[in-house]
Amino acid sequence: MVVAKGEWRIATLGSHSALQILKGAHDEGFPTIAICKKGKDKPYRQFKVADEILIVQEYTDLFKLEKQLKEKKAIIIPHASFVQYIGHEKMEKLSLPYFGCKKILEWESNRDKEKVWLTKAGLKLPKVFAKPEDIDRAVIVKFHGAGGGKGYFLAKNPKDFYKKIKAHPGKGYVIQEYILGVHMYAHYFHSPLTGETEIMGFDKRYESNVDGIGRITARDQMVLPQEKVDPSYVIVGNIPVVVRESFLPRFIEMGEDVVRESKKIVPKGLWGPFCLECVLTPEEEIYVFEISARIVAGTNPYIHGSPYTWIRYPEPMSTGRRIAREIKIAIEQNRLKEVLG
Ligand code: AMP
Repeated sequence: MVVAKGEWRIATLGSHSALQILKGAHDEGFPTIAICKKGKDKPYRQFKVADEILIVQEYTDLFKLEKQLKEKKAIIIPHASFVQYIGHEKMEKLSLPYFGCKKILEWESNRDKEKVWLTKAGLKLPKVFAKPEDIDRAVIVKFHGAGGGKGYFLAKNPKDFYKKIKAHPGKGYVIQEYILGVHMYAHYFHSPLTGETEIMGFDKRYESNVDGIGRITARDQMVLPQEKVDPSYVIVGNIPVVVRESFLPRFIEMGEDVVRESKKIVPKGLWGPFCLECVLTPEEEIYVFEISARIVAGTNPYIHGSPYTWIRYPEPMSTGRRIAREIKIAIEQNRLKEVLG
């Protein structure tokens, strides 16, 4: 792609949802840059989504590229790898144009802050137990840090908890009520230009080994080694779903409520893509156990659009493309500052 002088480019780290982000940027006419860790650049070359590939040793080397990226007029699109491998504190120091609100990352990274935000937005959250002695129902014990869902375990009472926690010495954890139901991850896009919060799609996660345990009988589970059948929630993929239509009004309102409340906690509030991680119960309650305040990998199955974006847009509209569209409109309307954090 020939880049016109002074033209903005879209750049992101080569992982998580970069294929979608860069493809979406191309669809909207932006030249693209993938910043890849050494040895991880193949997908971005093979799928031809990156006009330029910059290789780094560590993702934090992004800061060494600041001058170069500034000269190239690169707008950074964040995804989970920025939070996971660089961290929200460092990200706040990034001086490059950045799509989204940096300040909100702290609120999604800190479980206590996240709880305050979502509760104030009126969402229903699983109960959190301050200490193991308080456990009076099924709970899920989650560890802090970048390990994903590895090693999370279920416990039914304090005794059970103390028995199982022995395998995880020194790890920080949170004890959350286990909600029995089906998981539904709702993807949103909030446009600061129009003020609208759009539903982009839904997914469910494919997690190992919790999604595999049901494939063997209880009898076999009993004889297999304990560590093989202890559930683990390591995400390995995403599966598209549509939600029962009568749930949609609530999902739309939940997204709007989260955005409204975000404006009270950080200047300008949350904008761009975000996701509410939910469990839906037979009583038709929607519990939210987590928020991701940026694009989620659950949007990756919808590179050609989701059932919801097919209704709304005349062309295939992924979340990645929706981001580029917002930037394009902002440039056209001379409002770029409004979408950059
Ligand atoms: P998280 O690290 O919070 O995204 O959780 C990882 C996985 O654990 C989720 O994708 C769910 O499968 C499961 N999970 C987390 N919290 C709960 C909960 N409160 N009730 C039921 N399942 C949960």
